[in-house]
Amino acid sequence: AQQTGKLRYQFYLASIGDKSKAALLLEQELRQGIERGEFQLYYQPKVNMPTGQIDGAEALIRWFHPKRGFVSPGDFIPLAEKTGLIVPLGEWVLRSACTQARVWQDAGFSPLRVAVNLSGHQFNENEVDLNGLVVDILKETGLNSSYLELELTESILMENPQAAIATLHKLKSLGIRISIDDFGTGYSSLSYLSQFPFDVLKIDRSFICQLPEDDKNRAITIAILQMAHRLNLKIVAEGVETKSQLMFLEEHQCDEIQGYWFSPPLSAKDFSDLLHSGKSL
Ligand code: C2E
Ligand code: CA
Ligand code: CA
Ligand code: CA
Repeated sequence: AQQTGKLRYQFYLASIGDKSKAALLLEQELRQGIERGEFQLYYQPKVNMPTGQIDGAEALIRWFHPKRGFVSPGDFIPLAEKTGLIVPLGEWVLRSACTQARVWQDAGFSPLRVAVNLSGHQFNENEVDLNGLVVDILKETGLNSSYLELELTESILMENPQAAIATLHKLKSLGIRISIDDFGTGYSSLSYLSQFPFDVLKIDRSFICQLPEDDKNRAITIAILQMAHRLNLKIVAEGVETKSQLMFLEEHQCDEIQGYWFSPPLSAKDFSDLLHSGKSL
């Protein structure tokens, strides 16, 4: 029977293209990578305006594969989502980020909020009890809930808006901050902004990168900032790379900035050094 299974598997492999074979291999390596601990979290500072101080960090996953070297999340997150491996991986991310946040809190760097990106699978209650997981991890790590932020995209929420609203309310009642990520790139209507209980709106990099020269992006960014403030949301601009972008955002009362202008994502060690250096905007 084993022989038949093997033959069938070879037949299966032969029947699919090279690209799928590569994806199968990557999937296999992704599983191994989780077991072997090849993943690390990097942290990118979020800087408060107008204080100019670091007041948060976005955790971004990094895969250091023994042979492939660095694999970008853009290359493996989609596969991890397709295969469901994002569920154990996402749990590892949440636990590691909260553990690290607690270390920084104990070292006296507070308030420093750590933000974790969530995938749709983690938000699907048939797959993951997200609320229970968050409660357990906060208890395990002793992290105060106000130091945890979750970043979600519009598309995750729009899969099942009613369930999403209920889940968000539960998470918020724990004291966690909720951010809407990549704002402006989805195709949902603006009406959901008043229905979902967000705290923060992150303006997507695609708007920021053409500031301040591009008239249309300037108008859109100003409108988003005004609207969000009227809705009592904090606003983070992502992908801030230049001084002129920074000045524009400052002038229009953006609350936080994140991007290469201040710092790229850093290892936990380098982020700690940055905190100790006291660097500000
Ligand atoms: P994202 O959540 O929108 O994260 C921001 C991305 O922009 C990061 O890419 C970051 O390194 C990059 N970035 C930051 N500042 C700048 C800048 O000034 N200029 C430019 N050009 N880029 C900048 P990264 O780390 O490659 O992550 C890509 C995406 O992968 C993330 O987009 C997020 O959707 C996903 N991702 C990363 N880590 C995780 C994770 O732990 N879980 C999940 N579910 N997704 C993750
Ligand atoms: Ca994000
Ligand atoms: Ca983003
Ligand atoms: Ca993005």
